[in-house]
Amino acid sequence: MALIVQKFGGTSVGSVERIEQVAEKIKKFRNGGDDIVVVVSAMSGETNRLIDLAKQISDQPVARELDVMVSTGEQVTIALLAMALIKRGVPAVSFTGNQVRILTDSAHTKARILQIDSQRIQRELKAGRVVVVAGFQGVDGKGNITTLGRGGSDTTGVALAAALKADECQIYTDVDGVYTTDPRVVAKARRLDKITFEEMLEMASLGSKVLQIRAVEFAGKYSVPLRVLHSFQEGPGTLITLDEEESMEQPIISGIAFNRDEAKLTIRGVPDTPGVAFKILGPISAANVEVDMIVQNVAHDNTTDFTFTVHRNDYNSALQILQTIANEMGAREVIGDTDIAKVSIVGVGMRSHAGVASRMFEALAKENINIQMISTSEIKVSVVIEEKYLELAVRALHTAFELDAPAAKTAE
Ligand code: ADP
Ligand code: ASP
Ligand code: MG
Repeated sequence: MALIVQKFGGTSVGSVERIEQVAEKIKKFRNGGDDIVVVVSAMSGETNRLIDLAKQISDQPVARELDVMVSTGEQVTIALLAMALIKRGVPAVSFTGNQVRILTDSAHTKARILQIDSQRIQRELKAGRVVVVAGFQGVDGKGNITTLGRGGSDTTGVALAAALKADECQIYTDVDGVYTTDPRVVAKARRLDKITFEEMLEMASLGSKVLQIRAVEFAGKYSVPLRVLHSFQEGPGTLITLDEEESMEQPIISGIAFNRDEAKLTIRGVPDTPGVAFKILGPISAANVEVDMIVQNVAHDNTTDFTFTVHRNDYNSALQILQTIANEMGAREVIGDTDIAKVSIVGVGMRSHAGVASRMFEALAKENINIQMISTSEIKVSVVIEEKYLELAVRALHTAFELDAPAAKTAE
């Protein structure tokens, strides 16, 4: 008998009918003899609705209170699912993050799980119940409700699987696995049978929201077998695996990630003296603004242009800080741009192939897409481009790296 943690996302529990369907599915697994712990998200749209409510009170709602509120979304779905299971004769019990005791730090709205007390769940499983746990939420050492960041139910699922030493963590969602890129943007995207933790981590951190990045980190760290599957369609899904198979057929690029969440800031004509990067980025980081890509150019007149990207939510505060710095340093000007997007190609195959970046640049050049910034690591190349070219760029790269699914056979 296996112990399986199954996580169902927002669209999969988006209506009472869907919750009933999920209950049917769990019943079948249960009848197969496995122990099941289920993690659910809030009904789709609910977390956004709650955040909007808070924003009607204040632009920047107090984070502690925001957590008290947004955590209610998941509390509704655990109860509904437990009721639907019990109605079907499947013994079930629901728990909030606090009741299970998913202990987190106190970083409201982006808390990290520190420890999970799995005894209560173990007892319920022994008593033959399906345990339904609220995703996305925890409790800090002082008893405050915390949440784990958007998409955090994935992390609850994986963390529970690690704590319970489950045989597998299954992430059920509205696509049938991890694709070469977002199938809603590129129709020719292909489902991957397998992807390595390392690649999935890059894909998630570079914008593929199919799995929350912390969930992948956890799964890698605790070797939790992790699979992404469709909630209502049969199929093998995608296994996130540790082994990097050495095969001739290994693709150079496994996937393409993109994100529209960043904005670009440039400070021009800064005197080029030692410590300039620190003078610019010190105050930015002191304001808790995370910086992603950075480019610095040295000009001939002993001044430098310094460009970096931040999350769009932090754009206004970063711009203000930069303007103050520019005045202090005697810089020429500050320029900001929110209409940018970042596109990244990811693949462990890059390690053994030269010329991957230039192939990327060539594909973008053919489409007349200008590259504004570049960053690379061992298994990824990212570029910043104008936002309006994002979809074109992703499609061009998908074709250039031979990721397109074979054309579907048309009926004769
Ligand atoms: P859930 O509510 O189940 O957590 P999410 O919306 O968080 O679902 O994640 C699933 C979505 O992720 C898909 O509908 C898809 O549009 C998007 N997505 C982005 N990149 C990928 C990818 N590489 N493979 C599959 N889905 C992706
Ligand atoms: N309900 C939360 C969100 O919308 C958590 C999740 O769905 O994973 O972000
Ligand atoms: Mg999600």
